[in-house]
Amino acid sequence: MKLLEGKVALITGGSRGIGEAIAKKYAAHGAHVAFSYRSSAEKAKAIEAELQSMGVEAIAIQSDASSFEQAGELAKAVLDKFGRIDIVINNAGITKDTLMLRMSEEQWDAVINVNLKSVFNLTKQVLRPMLKQRSGSIINMSSVVGVFGNAGQANYAASKAGIIGFTKSIAKEVGSRGIRCNAIAPGFIETDMTEELDEKTKEAFLSGIPLKRLGKADEVADACLFLGSDLSTYVSGQVLSVCGALNT
Ligand code: NAP
Repeated sequence: MKLLEGKVALITGGSRGIGEAIAKKYAAHGAHVAFSYRSSAEKAKAIEAELQSMGVEAIAIQSDASSFEQAGELAKAVLDKFGRIDIVINNAGITKDTLMLRMSEEQWDAVINVNLKSVFNLTKQVLRPMLKQRSGSIINMSSVVGVFGNAGQANYAASKAGIIGFTKSIAKEVGSRGIRCNAIAPGFIETDMTEELDEKTKEAFLSGIPLKRLGKADEVADACLFLGSDLSTYVSGQVLSVCGALNT
């Protein structure tokens, strides 16, 4: 059974990792997919073609999620092509890990701008069309680190905690208009982002995960499928952990 037949989804950071898995999952469930990327143009074009071969409309658009102006252009391009936006997934994110004593202003600003300001940028752009439709599902990619913090990730944890406060506020602000807003808090998922961690750190993480394995991008995409579809019509303002019970 296809759960997103005919819906239009916009995903930020769809050229790799979790965003790529969401784009493919959504297309497999009948959604038309627009996704953004920052620099992986070749990869993005290949994914765009793969999605189109699945029988849905798909478009990859280069757009820096941290730019308010570019978020406006991105939303406009998607509305011009599809006429509506049913689901937005604010997924683009980066890390610039270091201990607080060594953290530069640039490292702080970059992570806050790409991870948190981006969520404001795009939500601001899509709310009006969603209000007109009187429907919409906004899904923001937080992290378990935003819930319980992590040494060496003060910038990242702050951005992901900020997303949770933002998500709950938007859910309260626009719930009466049929718009839902939820956050997902992945644990340790196998992607390029976690690939760069050293073996010792990975082992330490693993020992704390009750399911005793890392998560897969596809397992986060499954949670996005639930929150984007009509299986979750009474779920809003929530943070869904996808973490193998790490955050328990
Ligand atoms: P990833 O493999 O590093 O992929 C990041 C994606 O975001 C890429 O598509 C990248 O585009 C895009 N991106 C980065 N900066 C961007 C910008 N300024 N504008 C537009 N797109 C940008 O990361 P991931 O592991 O899939 O993570 C996806 C999300 O899940 C992030 O928000 C991350 O914080 C969150 N998360 C991940 C984990 C994990 O364990 N992996 C855990 C918790 C939360 P390019 O390819 O063009 O660079």
